[in-house]
Amino acid sequence: MSLLDRLRTLGQDREDLLHGESDPFGVPVEEVYSATEARIGGRTVLLAGTNNYLGLTFDPGCIQAAHDALAAGGTGTTGSRMANGSYASHLELERELADFYGCRFAIIFSAGYLANLGMISALVGPGDVAMIDADCHASIYDGCRLSGADTLRFRHNDPESLDKRLGRLGEQAARTLIIVEGLYSMLGDRAPLQAIVELKRRYGCLLMVDEAHSLGVLGENGRGLAEETGTAADVDFVVGTFSKSLGGVGGFSVSDRPELELVRYSSRPYIFTASPAPSVVASTREALSILRSRPELRERLWHNARQLYGKLEELGYRLGPDVSPVVAARLDTPEKALALWRGLIDEGVYVNLMLPPATPAGQSLVRCSVSAAHTPEQLDRICEAFATLSEQAAHLTRRAGS
Ligand code: PMP
Repeated sequence: MSLLDRLRTLGQDREDLLHGESDPFGVPVEEVYSATEARIGGRTVLLAGTNNYLGLTFDPGCIQAAHDALAAGGTGTTGSRMANGSYASHLELERELADFYGCRFAIIFSAGYLANLGMISALVGPGDVAMIDADCHASIYDGCRLSGADTLRFRHNDPESLDKRLGRLGEQAARTLIIVEGLYSMLGDRAPLQAIVELKRRYGCLLMVDEAHSLGVLGENGRGLAEETGTAADVDFVVGTFSKSLGGVGGFSVSDRPELELVRYSSRPYIFTASPAPSVVASTREALSILRSRPELRERLWHNARQLYGKLEELGYRLGPDVSPVVAARLDTPEKALALWRGLIDEGVYVNLMLPPATPAGQSLVRCSVSAAHTPEQLDRICEAFATLSEQAAHLTRRAGS
C-alpha cells in the first residue's frame, strides 16, 4: 500500500456513497444575504444549519465595529500573542469575557479548536489522565492526543460509567481532568452536570466544560450549562468559541484559577499561531455586549427551537432526547440521510448532513440549527419542507424499528 492509498480509499468510499452526484460536504455558499438566507447551487435557500444561534453575523453594530477596527488596526496582527500579536483589544476582550462569567481570568485563542488543544495540553501531560465523555468534539480528542495524557472515555452522559472509571484510577484520580460539553452539537442534548460535579468533588479531579454550543443559548444570562445548572463554582475551566453565538472566529477559556494565566506560557496552540485579527476581536466584543444586553434574542431562539422540535417530532422524525436549538433527525443509514438532505436542498432549505465516523454511535444525522433570526414565516417554510419529505423519512425511520 502506497502512502497516498489511504486518501484514495477515502475518495472511493465517498464516490460509492454519492454515485457521482454533488458532494454535500463543504457545499459552496455562493453568496450570503443575511443570517438566514444565502445562494447555494444558483438558488436562494433558507439557512437552517449554521450555529448562528443569535443571528448576529449581520448585526449592524457588529459590522460597524469590525469596519472601524479594520480601518484603525489593519487586516491582521501577523503574529502570536507571545510576540507582536498582543493588542489592547485582545486584553479588553479577555477582561470582558472574565466579567461576563464573573471569573477573575480569561484567555483567548485563535479558534475554539485551538482553545481545546491549548487548554488540555497545558492542563494535563504524560502520567495524568484526561477523562472525556465519549461523544466529545474532535478538538477535545485532539487536545488529549497533543497532551500525551492517558485518555479514557466514559459512556456519553452516563455518570455511572464515569464513576466506575474514576474508581479504578486509585491515586491517579487526583491527577485527572474531566472534560464534558454543555450542549452536545450532534443531538443537542445537555451534560448531566450536577452529577458530574459531585463525582469531580468526590474524586478530587478538575473539571473543564466546553460551552461552545451553550454560550448565548443556556442559562439566565446566556453563560451556558454551568449557569443553568447552578454549578459554575465547581467548573474549574470553561472553554468556548466565538464562532457560534458570537458570529466571529476564535476561542477562549475563563476560570477563577490563577493558573489560567500560566497557560499562556505552556500552551503551544496559544504561542505558535497568529492572534485573532482586530476586526474579529471588535465584532466579537460587540456581539458579547449584545448577548448580554438583549436577552430577548435568547427567548426568540428558544421559541423557534421549541417550534421546530415539536413540529418535526409530530411529523414522526426520530430526534435527539432534549429540546434545544440543535434539532437532529436520526436516519438509519447514510444513504437515507443523504436522500433527506438532498430533498431539503431541493425544497430550498440548507441543513447539515452528519455521517459516521464524525457522529456518535455511527448515526446518520440530518441536523438543523435554529437561529433567533429565523422569522415565523421562515420557520414555517422549514417545517413545510420537512413535512413534504416526512412520508418518506418517517417510513425510513419506522423501518429502523425505533
Ligand atoms: N468545541 C465544540 C463542542 C465544537 O462543536 C466546536 C466547533 N464545531 C469547537 C469546539 C471548535 O470551535 P471553532 O469553530 O471555534 O474552532
